[in-house]
Amino acid sequence: GSREYIFMVRTRVPGGKVTAEQFLAEFDLCEKYGNGTLRVTDRQGFQLHGVLKSNLQETIRGINEIKLSTYAACGDVERNVMCCPAPFKNNHVRQQMQDMADAIAEHLKPRSQAYYEIWVRNGEESHKVHEEGVEEEPIYGKTYLPRKFKTGIALPEDNCIDVYTQDLGLLAVVENDEIIGYNVLVGGGMGMTPAKKDTFPALAKRMAFVTPDQVIDVAEAVVKVQRDFGNRADRKYARMKYLIANWGLEKFKAKVEEYYGQSLPEPHPADVTDVDDHLGWHEQGDGKLFLGVNIDNGRIQDEGDFRAKTGIRAILRKYGMDTRLTALQSIIFCDIDPADKADIESILTDHGIALAETLTPTHRYAISCPALPTCGLAVTDSERVMPSLLSGIEAELARHGLSSERVSVHMTGCPNGCARPYTPDVGIVGKARGKYTLYLGGNAEGTRLAFLYDDLVPLDEIPQRLSPVFGLFKAERQEGESFGDFCDRKGKEALTEAVAATAS
Ligand code: SF4
Repeated sequence: GSREYIFMVRTRVPGGKVTAEQFLAEFDLCEKYGNGTLRVTDRQGFQLHGVLKSNLQETIRGINEIKLSTYAACGDVERNVMCCPAPFKNNHVRQQMQDMADAIAEHLKPRSQAYYEIWVRNGEESHKVHEEGVEEEPIYGKTYLPRKFKTGIALPEDNCIDVYTQDLGLLAVVENDEIIGYNVLVGGGMGMTPAKKDTFPALAKRMAFVTPDQVIDVAEAVVKVQRDFGNRADRKYARMKYLIANWGLEKFKAKVEEYYGQSLPEPHPADVTDVDDHLGWHEQGDGKLFLGVNIDNGRIQDEGDFRAKTGIRAILRKYGMDTRLTALQSIIFCDIDPADKADIESILTDHGIALAETLTPTHRYAISCPALPTCGLAVTDSERVMPSLLSGIEAELARHGLSSERVSVHMTGCPNGCARPYTPDVGIVGKARGKYTLYLGGNAEGTRLAFLYDDLVPLDEIPQRLSPVFGLFKAERQEGESFGDFCDRKGKEALTEAVAATAS
């Protein structure tokens, strides 16, 4: 028949760096070929939804024309390399990190010409070239990787990219304003399959310390170990975390050292201490300002009074500034003259886009995956129901006098966990239609796995299930303790018993 398949097209944006021209072109593409909305992903990329198969080639060609790429945005290769996007200028450390993200993305990107042949040139000729055989991949070989592979770079005081959830995390170690090296963290990954009891979400393990000049080669060695020893028999066990679980960290590290050709020292004691969402106004360090703007669930659209697409377009057309996409699905406008601050604020508010200081910390740190109707793997809603769910959770926090607390909430429509739901203070994971698993005891800093607190909770009961836990937190918290730390200290059993006692 003439059935039209619909595609999601994801753009790869290492470190989330996007020019005004590229941003505006993505808006044009989402209107011409997509569903009229542009989505900022939680890996600092863009997604266009609702692209018809017949428009796929034009869409991908359009993205290539603005010097962005869909290449390696999905598939069993290195995905979009994440990096803290804060655009501080005259800041050696930030610059080095962002340069490193670009260098890793460039080095680990697939080399095969097939992609360009298929999508960028004209269809018929390319098909012929493709069949003649693909140029050998220096890193991926003929078989690519067993599964997708994710990399991210963070600073100890600013883990906005969730470094412990990456297959390969690099934590910058800074001394005297210089990056002296990176702690290499391996084997993070959020996905799990409830029907398979031995699948699990995992935080990355601290493997080694490397100097900046070793990073690329060590990254390549890690990728090659996963390429050669990762599980190819069952995709459910194909992420690198399962290889590390089977082998143990010691054996894995020894194999990486063998591939790299040299032994690697233990990690530096430096570890994650905090996280920053980069929203609101900040001095950039060169006399200019940058402004972080929250976009709920990363969905840039015009709907009712919320006219983010028109508002952001107006700012980019008028000022033409560079932008950055954050891992919390928000955007940063860079290089703003302090004299333009009021004008930009009024364009935002005129279009119904909230300024960061008007939002609760919980709202600012909330993210969700797209789920229904656009994700084929979704078992239930996430993005579509997040705004009202979040209002419900904020209302319960307010009732307990906790509105100024940073309670991070990540929600997904299935256990694959694309929005990293197993590390925040509150994780909400779709389990069955309209029903969710609740996780507690993680933290906004992303350094701890949450525990399963309650299962098969109907959507509209989630705020009420959380409310007594908020109450206990309010009553029994220690000085300076965050909600996630409190839940972790109490543990699942004590928390469940205490909640039951408050109910009776
Ligand atoms: Fe789709 Fe599940 Fe990922 Fe959400 S978590 S985007 S529902 S695969």
